[in-house]
Amino acid sequence: MQGPVLPGLMMNTQLTIKGILNAAVHNFPDQEIVTRLVEGGMFRYSFADAAKRFQQLANVLVRLGVKRGDRVGVMGWNTHRQLELYYALGCMGAVCHTINPRLGPENANYVINHADDKFIFYDLTFAPLVEALAPNLQNVRGYVAMTDKANAPKKSPIKPLIYEELMAKEKDQYDWPDLDENEACSMCYTSGTTGQPKGVLYSHRAVVLQALVTCLPASFGCTNADAILPVVPMFHVNAWNVPYAALLVGAKLVMPGPQLDGKSLYDLIEAEDVTYSLGVPTVWLSLLDYVNDNGKTFTKMKYTLVGGAALSEAIIRGFEAHGVHVRQGWGMTELSPTGTVNAEDPGFYDLPMEERIPIQLLQGRALPFIDMRIVSDDGKVLPWDGESDGHLQVRGPYVISDYYKADKPTLTKDGWFDTGDVAVIHPDGRMQITDRAKDVIKSGGEWISTLDIENSALLHPAVSQAAAIGVPHPKWQERPLLIVALKQGKTAEPEEIRQFVCGKLPKISCPDAVEIIDEIPIGATGKVLKTELRKMFKDYVLPEFRNGGKAKDSAGAKKGLLGSLFGKKS
Ligand code: ADP
Repeated sequence: MQGPVLPGLMMNTQLTIKGILNAAVHNFPDQEIVTRLVEGGMFRYSFADAAKRFQQLANVLVRLGVKRGDRVGVMGWNTHRQLELYYALGCMGAVCHTINPRLGPENANYVINHADDKFIFYDLTFAPLVEALAPNLQNVRGYVAMTDKANAPKKSPIKPLIYEELMAKEKDQYDWPDLDENEACSMCYTSGTTGQPKGVLYSHRAVVLQALVTCLPASFGCTNADAILPVVPMFHVNAWNVPYAALLVGAKLVMPGPQLDGKSLYDLIEAEDVTYSLGVPTVWLSLLDYVNDNGKTFTKMKYTLVGGAALSEAIIRGFEAHGVHVRQGWGMTELSPTGTVNAEDPGFYDLPMEERIPIQLLQGRALPFIDMRIVSDDGKVLPWDGESDGHLQVRGPYVISDYYKADKPTLTKDGWFDTGDVAVIHPDGRMQITDRAKDVIKSGGEWISTLDIENSALLHPAVSQAAAIGVPHPKWQERPLLIVALKQGKTAEPEEIRQFVCGKLPKISCPDAVEIIDEIPIGATGKVLKTELRKMFKDYVLPEFRNGGKAKDSAGAKKGLLGSLFGKKS
């Protein structure tokens, strides 16, 4: 179609987080932000008062010499002070680099130097870590302990400035500049489970668009009637943008501080009338254990959004028993972070539970402006037929274009980002992760989903955590080994668990063995560390090969299982 381009005649004002802040202050000045403090006790203020503190903090940052484009590191829990850094740094044109303290000292050292952070703000919990890192942080000009005078560290080799003392000296007005929407406002590194962490630099535009789409009804779907509890940490991908989305829609924001155990979360949920909570599956399992073991229930909570790792049937059933609906989201650091949300179609809750659960276990439909495709090993784009599985690739305005200071291209030649996940897409647009490409078990030419095995194991009443890995098999290349940890005070035999799991899965996915260990290793972002498990089980010999046996094929004792394994894919 030929013809001259006719530009639209609309203002080209920029999508920056100042716009989110303005909406919060103009539309919902009295809405509350509540924090459980690191020092103990609660702190609460209104959106209007928070906005004043953001300006006060901008004056602090200017006095410290922070300039446009500078990175400032933050190592903190979900608190109002970290929220103040999000907005003050972003709105003044600097960059809030959130550091995951669980990355371990080596990675933390690497990311602070790589990002070239000018200052480090930290919660007292992390003082020992920051003090240990300091001698190797050549470009950091100073440290700020996020506390008040009464709680200031008495003796510290890094001689930190004290947050509340700095704030008290400044006025609460600051003229936010007009920024370009493509400027950076925040930064987060991937967790580095395979190689060095990689820096993801978020632009204002990406954050604003992501905040807008996460607020949609068929997404997180929260409103100014909600009180939102982000248990997902602010030090990992902007707490799924909740600190922006809540202010944008005028929802009460409840910050849990450092206490993330089941009892503390439950008490906070009830005391602050939380209606909506967000977190990774491991956190919810411990909350549900507390609620069930103590005969409690939720009185106000209506929804929880689970993401970061696969949602399990156990979590759905666990929450629904207390009248809480569960939605699943999928995303990653590189997507700002949410890519899909599995929102319910009309009439969904009229369906019987057995029909709902398989739908709820899918990762959901792409959020607006995200394009998804699945691609085979040999580069063919596969159909959305609910069967073809391949590498999940995405593109869109809140998807990474390049890692910070990347030395090789981040995207495919035709401009897509390969997520590292393996997925199928159903004809109704719902995406289903079957694995991470590096975790998938390749067995006799088929790909076995470790998620399916783990989800089945979590339904066993004695199992608290589950992870499946591939172990070498001379005939089938790899077969699944299921590793589980048991709930406190529960017992079960490995073979009993194996039979239970196999009863729920197609034969090909039935694990060849089950091992029980005390605790499954969990990484910096609350996910199972399969790399560690692979190290622990690197010399593992499947039961059929113990006592010097060799791979038995059709004549072997496992004939019944292995002989028919690959006959059909059910
Ligand atoms: P990391 O820094 O470890 O990559 P991310 O939080 O960015 O941390 O992890 C993103 C990955 O987490 C995704 O690529 C996917 O494998 C996994 N993930 C996230 N959400 C889900 C989900 N709902 N179901 C299954 N896997 C998920």
